[in-house]
Amino acid sequence: MSEQRFIYDLSDGDATMRNLLGGKGAGVAEMARVGVPVPDAFTVTTTACVAAMENNGTWPDGLKEQIKEGLVRLEERTGKKLGASQNPLLVSVRSGAVHSMPGMMDTILNLGMSDDSARAMAEETGNARFAWDCYRRFIQMYGEVVEGVPGHAYEDALAQMKSDRGVEQDTDLDADDLKELVATFKEISSEHLGGDWTNDPREQLDRAIDAVFRSWGNPRAEVYRRANNISAKLGTAVNIMQMVFGNGGDTSGTGVCFTRNPSTGEKALYGEFLVNAQGEDVVAGIRTPRPLEEMEEILPEAYHQLVDTMHKMEDHYKDMQDMEFTIENGKLFLLQTRNGKRTAAAALKVASDLVDEGVLDKHQALLRVEPSQLDQLLHPAIDPKHGRRSIAKGLPASPGAAVGEVVFDADTAAERGAKGEPVVLVRFETTPDDIHGIIVAQGILTAHGGMTSHAAVVARGMGKPCVAGAQGIRIDPKGKTLTIGDHVFKEGDTITLDGTTGNVYGEALELVPPQINADFRRMVAWADEVRALGVRANADNFEDATKARELGAEGIGLCRTEHMFMAADRLPAVRKMILADSPEERAAALEEILPMQQSDFEGVFTAMKGLPVTVRLLDPPLHEFLPDLTEQSLKVQKLELEGGDAQELGAARATLAQVRRLHELNPMLGTRGCRLAMLYPEIPEMQTRAIVRAALAVLEREGETAEIEIMIPLVALTEELKVQRGIVEKTMADELKTSGKTLDVTIGTMIELPRAALLADQIAEYADFFSFGTNDLTQTTIGISRDDAENGFLTNYVVDHVLERNPFESIDVEGVGQLVRMGVERGRSRKPKLKTGVCGEHGGDPDSIEFFHSVGLNYVSCSPFRVPIARFAAARAVL
Ligand code: ADP
Ligand code: MG
Ligand code: MG
Repeated sequence: MSEQRFIYDLSDGDATMRNLLGGKGAGVAEMARVGVPVPDAFTVTTTACVAAMENNGTWPDGLKEQIKEGLVRLEERTGKKLGASQNPLLVSVRSGAVHSMPGMMDTILNLGMSDDSARAMAEETGNARFAWDCYRRFIQMYGEVVEGVPGHAYEDALAQMKSDRGVEQDTDLDADDLKELVATFKEISSEHLGGDWTNDPREQLDRAIDAVFRSWGNPRAEVYRRANNISAKLGTAVNIMQMVFGNGGDTSGTGVCFTRNPSTGEKALYGEFLVNAQGEDVVAGIRTPRPLEEMEEILPEAYHQLVDTMHKMEDHYKDMQDMEFTIENGKLFLLQTRNGKRTAAAALKVASDLVDEGVLDKHQALLRVEPSQLDQLLHPAIDPKHGRRSIAKGLPASPGAAVGEVVFDADTAAERGAKGEPVVLVRFETTPDDIHGIIVAQGILTAHGGMTSHAAVVARGMGKPCVAGAQGIRIDPKGKTLTIGDHVFKEGDTITLDGTTGNVYGEALELVPPQINADFRRMVAWADEVRALGVRANADNFEDATKARELGAEGIGLCRTEHMFMAADRLPAVRKMILADSPEERAAALEEILPMQQSDFEGVFTAMKGLPVTVRLLDPPLHEFLPDLTEQSLKVQKLELEGGDAQELGAARATLAQVRRLHELNPMLGTRGCRLAMLYPEIPEMQTRAIVRAALAVLEREGETAEIEIMIPLVALTEELKVQRGIVEKTMADELKTSGKTLDVTIGTMIELPRAALLADQIAEYADFFSFGTNDLTQTTIGISRDDAENGFLTNYVVDHVLERNPFESIDVEGVGQLVRMGVERGRSRKPKLKTGVCGEHGGDPDSIEFFHSVGLNYVSCSPFRVPIARFAAARAVL
């Protein structure tokens, strides 16, 4: 058997090979293929990384030899040799996954540097400063990434050297300084390793590749993948690329550019560069770089070539590109190109513009918008009429408004943010290690770093407001203060960031609801032309229903009635009803509730006139409306001890007895849903009356009402539905007879228990429609309590990849999905036109929506704010 191939030379790859070569490897190969200048390279495949991961880090057979051969070929092509004392080859060892994860994994530059090659480079280039600069960079990166030396050890030594020499910038250090720094860096590494720093570039290459493999599993990469739903199984490719040097003097430099503005989507040059610097300097946000436009004066030839290349690559990929480049002595090289990460607003604008430019058709454009990103557009914005003065200004790195309490480190941000507290992460500069804090923060403020720093790229991808490189702010992370002019902010003080303008305010500004822009309206209309699934919302009052309709909901898929029972003005009557001793007492209490329910329904039906509204009859267990058992026991005990008012004590005892009577060990599997209605038929009767009266009132007042669908929850047995349907029909007939009017109402059921899905054909006999309640269906199919699991094992399961995703967020297609499919098929085997929908949380999840489309549901229903997302996701499911 021939062994597996793990190495592809630059000329062996192309854009279609992302899965094997990673995005970066495929991107550079494609650029080389179409004639863009790229340094020569070879790539170790993702399959090699996966094989190593699956075997406790042990490399697969043949990998080591294939790397050696790949290196020999690279040496032949370049005419240079790794580690040689003449004409040495230097390479970068770069991570590059299938889905780009900016800055989350490791890369090592200048590998091949040794005492011999440093001397050779100094001689051959006549630039000793440059040679020693490369060497010290190498020792630091290799030490950090491969040997695990803490980075600050080197940073401190560098800072010390600069302060000893009385200089500000790295570029102000001369060759001798850097040579001395190399010696110091070696000592730091040796000390950490407990041995001598030794230099064997070939061995270092293998170890660097291995370290890049391992960086797939580092914590920030894990956090990033989880936030972006990227599978942990994919692994990274490793690109070994000849170094080109931006740090050799003033005709050299390095930078990052986007073919369009990734914040707004506007078609304009967007980028940054640094003269006399190496790649990491820009993307790590250590030095604040200069705007790309300034390059035209400094390096005109390379600048124009770059602009041409940008256009060429955008045309080639038909999408906005994010590119890295380096200029070595005036000569341009491209080092990376990828579809640029962008905000939701930019995604819509770019896609919509590309249609106008004739590059994409509407369907292709829809596929360019990630539905899950769209909720960014629905975040509140700063009230334009705020009239406050900003106290600082930075770069508008990622748009949007953030109001929150200042925190100075990512751990604190992560901890407080996880509790739902609004925090703004304030850092000198952010590094990819801050990712866990960035994810939960409202926004990010940095004193350093540019628009293309990794922090800014990640923030835009997540839609987090970010103001970067704010001049004149001073941050003391140890003392936990932020000083701006005379203001001193301590941890916990509130500030506001405007990521759209770069302004910072020293107080909480008022926020207003966002405006949905023209690009959005245009594209969502295209989505509506394409999609087959209907999109409804879950709403139970006039305001939410109106909002949902504005956002494009085509009806209500779930109108819960329990919220109407919980409102403070209803609760006393509801309790009276539950605690009633006789049917008469109960009927009297229900009589009190009826008009309130009716008025709630009127609101919903008015907001949705002309559209369907599915009203679910009472679902939760009754004890949810009663005082807590423990509290009530304590109350009785207290009254007994005080020996107070006998009447009060009597009432408290009576309540306690009822609470005990209704107490259940497993209330979610207990007396709720239609089981409750079977025990107390007065409840569905009252609810039906309220619904019918409300519909008639709205019809009378507005000339039109909603299409009413009454839904029976938690049906497991056909008999339950049969009985409940009978109650609803009879009550309805009574009501209509009394009023002398007519009204079309359909009666259906939730399918949310496995038995109901299994017997869906029998159940369909008594149902005009099905609505899959995938929350309960998930609980009861997998046997996980949703209310408890997220505090316990479920979170670990996701972290440890026992489960790839939380099944309450995205439907478990393999398991629970089967029951949905079966429910639809069996239901329609009895009633071919049976209307089916879904009303669980999954109705707003793009991946779940794709599945629901595939099983042929008629609609999904989700929270009002997810309606636009669902409309896009439903369209993508078709494309
Ligand atoms: P990341 O994915 O974190 O951006 P990269 O592999 O792209 O990591 O590399 C980090 C930086 O080093 C980038 O700015 C890149 O342009 C630069 N770089 C990588 N390889 C080379 C090379 N062969 N020559 C010069 N610069 C390089
Ligand atoms: Mg990069
Ligand atoms: Mg349910």
